[in-house]
Amino acid sequence: MKTLVLKPDKESLAIAADIIKSDGLVAFPTETVYGLGALATSGKAVKSVYEAKGRPSDNPLIVHVHKDYDISELVYDDFPYVEKLRKAFLPGPLTLVYRSKGMVASEVSCGLDSLAIRIPSDENAQAFLRACDVPVAAPSANVSKHISPVTAEHVYEDLNGKIPLILDGGRCSGGIESTVLDVTTETPLILRSGLVTSEMIKKVVGKCEYAQHKEGDKIKSPGVKYKHYSPKCKTKFFERKDLDKAVEEYKSALNRGLTPIILCDDEIKSQLMNVNAIDIGKTSKELAENVYEALHEAEKISDFIIGIELVGDSEIDVGVMNRFFKATRDD
Ligand code: AMP
Ligand code: MG
Repeated sequence: MKTLVLKPDKESLAIAADIIKSDGLVAFPTETVYGLGALATSGKAVKSVYEAKGRPSDNPLIVHVHKDYDISELVYDDFPYVEKLRKAFLPGPLTLVYRSKGMVASEVSCGLDSLAIRIPSDENAQAFLRACDVPVAAPSANVSKHISPVTAEHVYEDLNGKIPLILDGGRCSGGIESTVLDVTTETPLILRSGLVTSEMIKKVVGKCEYAQHKEGDKIKSPGVKYKHYSPKCKTKFFERKDLDKAVEEYKSALNRGLTPIILCDDEIKSQLMNVNAIDIGKTSKELAENVYEALHEAEKISDFIIGIELVGDSEIDVGVMNRFFKATRDD
């Protein structure tokens, strides 16, 4: 299959909508990462998303809709705080998990009785979803477990030949995937951390907790249990206190003929001399925005990525470190 890469305009959006409505797949930009969209009401289309990505079939998908879409067709609203959350954060990088009305293909939620819905704020994402005017199930547009894509080139590298169209809206601004929040419980529960933090949610509704996954629990958000976001080369992670050990590891790798690279924040970078290192940023927002781009870059130019614990200036670090640790740990 030939993969077209087109800038979003009237013509390409009409082509994209036609592809979606005939059970095909379209990659599109959002403010977090690129999504791989499929018609959520079609079991055939949704199955082909799992196939194109090689995604485990028990990791459910988020349904994306434009901002005027009537989501009461799809889900139940159980608590008054949910409307407050929508007013405060949507459109934006917050996915809400509701009780489902069963209107989309069962493959979307992998048989769970819940449905995750996101309303992205990115203009191109809105234009695409409006052109489709149907619920679009969309995971990140990468091969499962590889680094999430933040440019159309990243999508092309992973999915060239497997999908008919990539809408190229340039680089994503936010950088890490949406916060996933369960709103089927009295207290909203963070299933996956992201740019919308528990502090921000608490300010609006007065309560918010992180979901705790204990051994033997039925996992509420199955995606969190998989290895994720990983470069194709060897990786190793170090805490900040072990910076000396990280530098030793780097030198020993050089001696073994490897081309290592260190990924770190601005403060650690300023302490390093005579090593090849990428400075991911200083503030938590910068770290979130640059972390995937840095991993993609490092994967291209090195064969051994050494990650050093990142520290910014806010709770967004929880989401950044969740991805960075999973990407650079060595198991
Ligand atoms: P991705 O599509 O790669 O951004 O991952 C989507 C994330 O949302 C995964 O962590 C899923 O487990 C989570 N998710 C999607 N649908 C649901 C749902 N119905 N209930 C709980 N978590 C969900
Ligand atoms: Mg993903």
